[in-house]
Amino acid sequence: MPSPALLLSRTHYGETSLVATVLSPRHGRVRLLAKGAYRSTSRFFGVLDAFHTLELDWRPAKGDGLALLTGGDWLRRRRAIPSHGVAYRAAWTVLETAKLVARDDLPEPHLFELAERALDELDAAAVRGDERGARLVRLAFDLRTLRSLGLAPALAHCAHCGRPAPPTRSAAETTLFAADQGGRLCRSCAGQLGPTANAPANVPSRLIEWTATLLASDVGRAGGTQPPGAASDRASLLALERLVDRFTAHHLDAGRKSLGAARTA
Ligand SMILES: [Zn+2]
Repeated sequence: MPSPALLLSRTHYGETSLVATVLSPRHGRVRLLAKGAYRSTSRFFGVLDAFHTLELDWRPAKGDGLALLTGGDWLRRRRAIPSHGVAYRAAWTVLETAKLVARDDLPEPHLFELAERALDELDAAAVRGDERGARLVRLAFDLRTLRSLGLAPALAHCAHCGRPAPPTRSAAETTLFAADQGGRLCRSCAGQLGPTANAPANVPSRLIEWTATLLASDVGRAGGTQPPGAASDRASLLALERLVDRFTAHHLDAGRKSLGAARTA
């Protein structure tokens, strides 16, 4: 039975074939051999492209072999993404993250829906030329993915003792935040960290609040979120990216190549 799928990556296989790693809601991460896909006469030629929602059919793998792609078409195309550098790199990061966390041959309906939603928004941001929106959608996707894995940062309470954080009173206020401790820390818990622990960073409290807003909002609304109580300037967006990316990198325990490019954008 055909299944919707997102292409996560593809590699050459022999002269004219390729191996596609895809995410499907019912089967999670699947590796498919597309025989002769690089021949211009192949029915898979041009279909196996990133960012679109595909409809794929395959024969399951036998033993250690690869599943064999038997049919493929587009279900939903997102053609604007490659035309906008920031949206393009953000979309690759979404796919790279999905590839990193998806389980092989197990249902991943939530991750699939989240990735599709993010790609829809990145396509729309590319059409609008909305760089800021594209960057925020990507961060929201990462945060929501972490949350679905039970790895969301503690933002409204101390990651150690669970004590609720006091409300932010001024724009100059800072919060102690340590990615490797799971998020924000109260002064007392930060003071009890062992001598080998990394020192928590002093992060502007409004960035923590912005992160909480992103985590709570639908990926589709992420682009419209603002840092509370401050102008939405480039510097605070960069600081937000640094905060979320460090946390994500620590907890997903692997560097994502596409982020290097996203950062310099
Ligand atoms: Zn505490």
